[in-house]
Amino acid sequence: MAGTEKGTMAQKILIIEDEPKIARLVRLYLEEAGYEATAIHDGGQAIYAFRQEQPDLVLLDLNLPGLDGLDVCRKLRGESDVPVIMLTARTEEADRLIGLELGADDYVVKPFSPREVVARVRAVLRRASGPQTPGEVIRAGSLSLDMGSRRVHLGGHELALTVSEFDILHALARGSGRVLTRLQLLEASQGVAYEGYERSIDQHIKNLRRKLEDNISYPRIVHTVHGVGYRLDPLED
Ligand code: CA
Repeated sequence: MAGTEKGTMAQKILIIEDEPKIARLVRLYLEEAGYEATAIHDGGQAIYAFRQEQPDLVLLDLNLPGLDGLDVCRKLRGESDVPVIMLTARTEEADRLIGLELGADDYVVKPFSPREVVARVRAVLRRASGPQTPGEVIRAGSLSLDMGSRRVHLGGHELALTVSEFDILHALARGSGRVLTRLQLLEASQGVAYEGYERSIDQHIKNLRRKLEDNISYPRIVHTVHGVGYRLDPLED
């Protein structure tokens, strides 16, 4: 097992996947890439394993025995902002959108190459550790984003955001009132604009609004520009 010695600081990945062949392959590739990976095969054990392992990232199959992947995602989000990448079948599009709505950060569609999974893991973890500019604070109205600690405050209250939510909000704040397209937001948040992933932006925006807005039906901070994208226009205190 890689990364068990003290001081190696390997990042931990928890794989929740009931197909042993897939779980094993993904684990091997992750270990080869320098991560410490653990696989469990039952959704019912997921939360327990998560608490035990305290992973830096969770790879979550949606179709699981025990507890469904979406329920696992909901429970994880109930107690943690850990980055979550869903492993989904092509036919599970509706579930995928629900998963994103529940706060998953990204997804990979089966059949995937293990290399692709490793690339996504690396990308999400890179975002989670953030750009190394400690102390830089971006302000927009009553919102403030600390780029060093990746903490967000709205009117003095700290918000708990997922990696994706933070990156999208950051891109909007940097745009200072400019409209950004879904593709631009996708690129800003994922580093790459994967084709067909634009709809995931809408889900992340929905989640952001739930955390930012008093009334999500009448957003006053993150505005939709129909046919174009989104723009940030927070009110001053
Ligand atoms: Ca499965």
